[in-house]
Amino acid sequence: MNAETDPSEIIQNERYQAKRNWTIADSSMLYGLDKWGEHYFAINQKGNINIQPTGSKGQSLDLVDLVKELKSRNLQLPLLIRFDDILEDRIKQLHLAFAKAISTYKYEGHYQGVFPVKCNQQRHVVEEIINCGKPWKFGLEAGSKTELLIALALIESPKALLICNGYKDKCYIETAILSRQLGRQAILVIEQVDEIERIILASKELGAAPLIGIRAKLSTRSSGRWANSIGDNAKFGLCVPDILKAVEKLNDANLLTDLRLLHFHVGSQINDIAILKDALQEAGQIYVELKKAGAPMGYLDVGGGLGVDYDGSKTATQASTNYSLQNYANDVVATVKDCCQSNNIKMPILISESGRAIASHFSVLIFDILGTSSVPSYVPKIQDHESLIIRNLREALSFINQVAKDKNPDHSILQEAWNDAIKFKDDALNAFRLGYISLHERAMAEQITWACAKALTDMLPYKNSLTEELTNLKSALSVTYYANLSVFRSAPDTWAIEQLFPIMPIHRLNEKPDQLGHFADLTCDSDGKLAKFIGNSQVKSLLELHQLKPNENYLIGMFLAGAYQEVMGNLHNLFGSTNAVHVRLANNGGYKLNHVVRGNTKSDVLEAMEHDPEQLLERLRINSEVAIQRGSLKIKDAQRLMDHLETTLRQSTYLQEEKGL
Ligand SMILES: *Cc1c(COP(=O)(O)O)cnc(C)c1O
Repeated sequence: MNAETDPSEIIQNERYQAKRNWTIADSSMLYGLDKWGEHYFAINQKGNINIQPTGSKGQSLDLVDLVKELKSRNLQLPLLIRFDDILEDRIKQLHLAFAKAISTYKYEGHYQGVFPVKCNQQRHVVEEIINCGKPWKFGLEAGSKTELLIALALIESPKALLICNGYKDKCYIETAILSRQLGRQAILVIEQVDEIERIILASKELGAAPLIGIRAKLSTRSSGRWANSIGDNAKFGLCVPDILKAVEKLNDANLLTDLRLLHFHVGSQINDIAILKDALQEAGQIYVELKKAGAPMGYLDVGGGLGVDYDGSKTATQASTNYSLQNYANDVVATVKDCCQSNNIKMPILISESGRAIASHFSVLIFDILGTSSVPSYVPKIQDHESLIIRNLREALSFINQVAKDKNPDHSILQEAWNDAIKFKDDALNAFRLGYISLHERAMAEQITWACAKALTDMLPYKNSLTEELTNLKSALSVTYYANLSVFRSAPDTWAIEQLFPIMPIHRLNEKPDQLGHFADLTCDSDGKLAKFIGNSQVKSLLELHQLKPNENYLIGMFLAGAYQEVMGNLHNLFGSTNAVHVRLANNGGYKLNHVVRGNTKSDVLEAMEHDPEQLLERLRINSEVAIQRGSLKIKDAQRLMDHLETTLRQSTYLQEEKGL
């Protein structure tokens, strides 16, 4: 819906829709599923959400059936369901988009992405990504020592890149150098000036050099939420004079031949593609200069930031993006090509560190509703000898009901009727105070007033141009749905509210949702609320929901929730005892549960992410043996590597400690 749409036309449409039978197409439109769901989610004829990882022509799975069966396996709600097929498809789509752009623009180079581990550190998730990404030699990006350890242990393909970002102490640097000897494509990205000396020292000490990258601090500004992480005040990256100094120092230390990569990161969830273009042009020029200064180069890493359209609006707003995946790939490819061509320079291998765009869609959080509360709005039966006040109120109500039949009711008449109702209710209160009416009658007066309000708001379309008071009436009458979700109780200032995720019922989508509500957890404090929902053009404070049915669970899904949920207060804090399952669709229309991760609280972070430290070390030990046999790693150095890894394991604190997210 755009701003030019005539409101009365919308009213007409919506009244029309209310009259005819509600269809699943109406639900799809109302919740925006057809816009944010990509091809992964649809509504089936039963009115349930269908999961269809490869689109409507591929296999599909009824989400409600799945939840029921999981529950019968004693996997209680709330439940985090990860659809690994969707994760696989995301990786595929990303590569297809770049492949298409590369062929369209006849780019002379290829794309080779990495997944930033901080985006979802769960072992099963990272393993799945490595597995699905094999055909493209998809690699990993590490932002801290612990992430480097995870990445080193999990990467299998010797061609896959391992981008080493974040704060680097001696141990981190040595680990990266030794990983190269281990046969990994580890590229150490210089983010701070003082790292250069440490890299030079470590290289001398080990008699081996790392592959080196430089992170540029661009002057382009981001409009995204992490806008402060770039620009002149950014915490990471070298400004142009520092880059030149770095080249000089590397040259003096005979390390310039190992300078292979230029990296930049404009921030997460880039909303506006224009920002990316500016950054690409600036970085492209710096790349050219580095090449001219004698560095072999070869890689341009455009960082993360590829956005997700959470509200499906395709706009440059916080919960959306004004570009598609293909637009993104096209811009990266075309801009870099232009820059290289006009400077007569070989086009680099393109890297992106897209986290959110890969890991958002595959995970769905399902919770149920324990109960609702709302103001009573049913009309009490007519009794003998009702007082004048009650009769007045009844008259106001029947007047409103009369107007409601009108095709195009006059708003000022409605407002007047409401004013009358409010006045009569105040009269009732006064009369009660003075002893003229009974408590019973006062209760009736309140009920009829709410009934008036209900009759009025029922007439209101979802979007309307009514007076503020009538609009506020809607929220006064809204229903609180008590969600069976500990997230709001345990998250100190509820990150989940900051980030807008599409939220909608996963069944009954062939019934018209006739309530407006928001979610609260059982503590009922102000932080325990979920009252921001994606709307057609703006954030809504109330969501259209169904009335609860006796003896039937009402199931709600929070979608696109797979990226950064750990960051939002750490998975084990945030979701307390949430169970997580990994599901793969099977050929026969069934499915396979690949992993069941029982929710429980663990103190150790690595273990909380399901990584087994012993297993990580064991894998690396085996890898070291292979490298020693091959002659690329000395036994002494292998020992040193294992020492570093063990130290890192012992020290490991929060995985994302060094990321200023
Ligand atoms: C967070 C981060 C990313 C991932 O960003 P997305 O927006 O999730 O793609 C990539 N690179 C760096 C350096 C980061 O800090």
